[in-house]
Amino acid sequence: MTIRFDDQVVIVTGAGNGLGRCHALEFARRGARVVVNDLGGSRDGTGGSSDAARAVVTEIEAAGGAAMSNGANVANYAEVEAMVNEVVSRWGRIDVLVNNAGILRDKTFAKMDLENFNVVMDVHVGGAVNCSKAVWEQMRKQQYGRIVMTSSSSGIYGNFGQTNYGTAKMGLVGFMNSLAIEGQKYGIHVNALAPIAATRMTEDLMPPDVLALLQPEAVTPAVVFMASKEAPTRQIIAAGAGVFSRVVIQETPGVFLPDDQRDADHVAAAWSQIADTAGQVELKAGGEQTVKLLSKAAAALGIK
Ligand code: NAD
Repeated sequence: MTIRFDDQVVIVTGAGNGLGRCHALEFARRGARVVVNDLGGSRDGTGGSSDAARAVVTEIEAAGGAAMSNGANVANYAEVEAMVNEVVSRWGRIDVLVNNAGILRDKTFAKMDLENFNVVMDVHVGGAVNCSKAVWEQMRKQQYGRIVMTSSSSGIYGNFGQTNYGTAKMGLVGFMNSLAIEGQKYGIHVNALAPIAATRMTEDLMPPDVLALLQPEAVTPAVVFMASKEAPTRQIIAAGAGVFSRVVIQETPGVFLPDDQRDADHVAAAWSQIADTAGQVELKAGGEQTVKLLSKAAAALGIK
């Protein structure tokens, strides 16, 4: 075991169940002091009890590890700030934050009321923003930090009945992209996970033999890697059933339309060329797109 977290402090939100519980146990097994945060609500975020988080702490302690439970609602900044203050005063630092807490309120967009849209945004995006904001100064002071967002294929690729969840999960990719750029000079790496696992979130969506392949333990190694000293930054790892892959967003070379062709009809006529993926590139920051577009236009216009 070369990846270790001795002397490090790791916060895992939503760690009372499913993936978060599995991440917390593995961080503890690798020497971390672990903050097991969980509101203890149901799958749709209603209700609450600190039992789930406490049970995970008991499990970690029984295996000889160090952990503390915390019942903060990640959507509430004051509660998150109190959690972070408590962790820093008890353990002195925060090395890793895994933004994992999440809920589901699935409905088609036609049937979804805005409250169900906004609550999902509040927990996934608001929760990750609150927790990242609360640890940011500490990580900057330390000149070291690792933050992992939990995204989803539903956000990256879309899924029926999940406009709320998908918006939130792709929002986390946007949050990661800019935060990673800002964190780089402070030694803070920010990455995202796109998992698939058998948990209470997915238990009624797939047959038992498929669920048996999708144990959370098959996802956690990606999170532990993204939280380690060896972690890359600004990456998305998809993980499930023991398969690990990188999700890449790319842009096609595109076409330049001269002044006299710059209208929707010419865009439509050029669509197959615009959409052609040959020679597509991965851009590392928003500004790189501006440079790419200007360079193509300059080349077409003969401007040096
Ligand atoms: P889960 O329901 O087992 O675990 C989520 C945990 O988050 C629960 O213990 C819950 O109490 C906690 N939580 C919810 N709202 C909270 C809040 N406001 N504050 C603190 N804790 C809160 O589900 P899971 O499948 O383990 O999901 C973990 C993460 O992975 C979620 O972000 C989910 O969206 C994401 N995800 C899961 C899958 C999958 O296949 N299971 C796929 C893609 C993404």
